[in-house]
Amino acid sequence: MRVLIAEDDLTSRMILTAILRKWGYEVEAAVDGIEALKILQESDPPKLALLDWSMPGLSGVEVCRRLRENQINDSIYIIILTAKSDKKNVVEGLNAGANDYIKKPYDNDELQARINVGKRMVEIQSELEKAKQALTHEVMYDALTGVYNRKAILDLLKKELYQTKRNGGTISVGMCDLDHFKKINDKYGHQTGDEMLRGFADLIKLNLREYDLIGRYGGEEFIIIIPSCENEGNRMDFNRICKVVSDTKIDTRSGPISFTVSIGVTESDGSSSLDEILTEADDALYRAKGNGRNCACFVV
Ligand code: GH3
Ligand code: MG
Ligand code: MG
Ligand code: MG
Repeated sequence: MRVLIAEDDLTSRMILTAILRKWGYEVEAAVDGIEALKILQESDPPKLALLDWSMPGLSGVEVCRRLRENQINDSIYIIILTAKSDKKNVVEGLNAGANDYIKKPYDNDELQARINVGKRMVEIQSELEKAKQALTHEVMYDALTGVYNRKAILDLLKKELYQTKRNGGTISVGMCDLDHFKKINDKYGHQTGDEMLRGFADLIKLNLREYDLIGRYGGEEFIIIIPSCENEGNRMDFNRICKVVSDTKIDTRSGPISFTVSIGVTESDGSSSLDEILTEADDALYRAKGNGRNCACFVV
């Protein structure tokens, strides 16, 4: 684990650096508070910092206060090293946002124990952060296909409608439904069906632009959102998607399988409700199925 040592006294800095290296830490050293603050504000700073209280420029406590105030990298575990043993000083240090303090001259065993506590806290914090990210991912993405799930894509659609209304232009929404998908499941089994759903999502992702969105509405139904574009352009996009799908075979455990998709497309200037958009797209999809599938139909 990387540790920052900020200590203006050369001898103390060298001793601290040497013992922390001996304990297995990767040490970065700063010669004063200004350098320490700069390092701690970088994008991937050491998560553990040992700051001397008295340093020229900025004191260790001031470094701590500025980090916490600006909420930049404020999860860094900070230990203040101080010759000030007065209770008032300790309170000041902790109030500035330090996690712990060690009195100088320090006892090596105590220093090691306190740094180890810091290391544990940093590790727990990082585990929590990872768990939080995984949860956020689970809440927004479909577990099978990796695209947005129903709630996320509908939330995004609402947001896009709002933005379209504010900024002008149009938004196109395509309700996609894989054709005769039940037959694929019946013929090859559900696992192959799952691979087809995943393959469809991957294929569409490859063929969309950066600002276009895809989410799984449910079962073998997906929503594609193409924001702010000319109507004619969007029509071509959806026709092209149908063609790309029918031209592609998905590699599955049962071998390469071809498939087709039907799409119902509606356009909006942002003034329609979510409900209206979904109803219109559904009606258009119904017509696409009626027209023999493997095509896109548009609300006129
Ligand atoms: P159509 O062209 O009219 O849409 O025919 P279809 O067979 O695709 O439509 P239907 O609604 O009858 O069947 C949808 C099928 O999609 C049935 C269901 O088992 C399958 N399905 C839905 N979700 C999943 C899934 O997560 N995995 C797999 N393998 N199949 C799924
Ligand atoms: Mg000093
Ligand atoms: Mg369906
Ligand atoms: Mg279907």
